[in-house]
Amino acid sequence: LWSQVLERLQLNLSRPTFETWIKTASAQSFEHNCLVIRTPNPFARNWLQKYYINTIANVVQDIVGHPVEIYFTVAQGDEASHISDQKVDWDSPPQGNISQKPVNNQPKTFQLNPKYVFSRFVVGANNRMAHAAALAVAESPGMEFNPLFLCGGVGLGKTHLMQAIGHYRLEFFPDSKIFYVSTEKFTNDFITAIGKKDGMQSFREYYRTADILLVDDIQFIEGKEGTQEEFFHTFNTLYEAGKQVVIASDRPPNQIPRLQERLCSRFSMGLIADIQAPDLETRMAILQKKAEYENIRLPRDVIEYIAANYTSNIRELEGALIRALAYISIWGLPMTVENIAPVLEPPMEKLETTPEIILKVVSENLNISIEDLKGNSRRREISWARQIGMYLMRQNTDLSLPRIGEEFGGKDHTTVLYSCEKITQLRDNNPELTQTLKQLNDRIQMNSRPKK
Ligand code: ADP
Ligand code: MG
Repeated sequence: LWSQVLERLQLNLSRPTFETWIKTASAQSFEHNCLVIRTPNPFARNWLQKYYINTIANVVQDIVGHPVEIYFTVAQGDEASHISDQKVDWDSPPQGNISQKPVNNQPKTFQLNPKYVFSRFVVGANNRMAHAAALAVAESPGMEFNPLFLCGGVGLGKTHLMQAIGHYRLEFFPDSKIFYVSTEKFTNDFITAIGKKDGMQSFREYYRTADILLVDDIQFIEGKEGTQEEFFHTFNTLYEAGKQVVIASDRPPNQIPRLQERLCSRFSMGLIADIQAPDLETRMAILQKKAEYENIRLPRDVIEYIAANYTSNIRELEGALIRALAYISIWGLPMTVENIAPVLEPPMEKLETTPEIILKVVSENLNISIEDLKGNSRRREISWARQIGMYLMRQNTDLSLPRIGEEFGGKDHTTVLYSCEKITQLRDNNPELTQTLKQLNDRIQMNSRPKK
């Protein structure tokens, strides 16, 4: 069985992927519909488990003719490469592990991640304005831009930049009161306070003594009326006392749904500075700097290669670097582009979904024959299944509306468009339909093959 599996996988996967992940594994046992695959180390096990389990399951199912459960083990003793699991924190890129406990005697920086300082922040065209504003605020809090509202997508440096303000201030004025708080924590503190005798009073005293209040991920305040009310008062008190407020959000204030108008206007009163995705040069500079701090020398082409593959999220960019480093050290390889390719490839994104797969999945799961899907019957179940099929094809392939119409036996593109819009509308108010669509989507993914 295993040699057949290897043969098929070789056709389906790229060469570096196959050589690194599949060839080094072997079949340990195949009983009771369970295939146990032995991998040389924990890193390989995790990687196979995360990215290749579906591909392998599909191939095995094709060969034996029924579904098989796939398990992975790590080779023990002499056969194992001598690597311990601890060494590799490959799945958790560095992120702000910020202590949530407001313990009194902790040093003032306890809420701040020591790595999030200005000197480690790479300035590029994407964040120049936000960086300049943060620096200005750090130098003269309450004077320049109040509040400073930082906005930008996930993993683009908002938290880093806002904490840098705190570090900077504490370096020069160790006694200043810098509060960094996630919106979640503010909300929880507020809720806890309500439930306690004198709770509200100490809550207010605590937050209103800040010299600088840094509030992260304010978008999570959406719809929380009580928290918004309380935050409004906290904000006003600090603002009127000339204290600085810095807010971070993944979108501008006017795009946060269910945010009270008066808060929205307060947030827009100072400066709204946005952070965009970094360009290639900036991404390379970030990797370079990171490597310097870790005391690692990286070849330029390796930096460029990683930077080229991760474009929209700096946390993921850093994660890829860490994975590459872990991988290189585990297999004892020199740091080259060729050697790190297997850990950078995001294999799941390269699935190829064909119209046939979608028709087959819809037909099997909604019990309507493919002929009926392609035919002209207006029976309710049939046209319903057809509409779902068109919607799924639109979502899962690059096909144009007329091409999708053709796949359904030559329907007009306006019919396809109507179906997609109808399902989209219904979906948003109908959890049951949402669930059905999710199941169908999962099945489609399962049946799709990696692109060659
Ligand atoms: P956000 O809060 O916007 O989701 P973070 O501030 O948590 O993003 O940043 C994600 C990771 O990327 C952090 O490890 C951070 O240090 C790093 N990072 C973001 N922007 C930069 C930058 N300009 N220079 C260096 N590192 C950065
Ligand atoms: Mg953040």
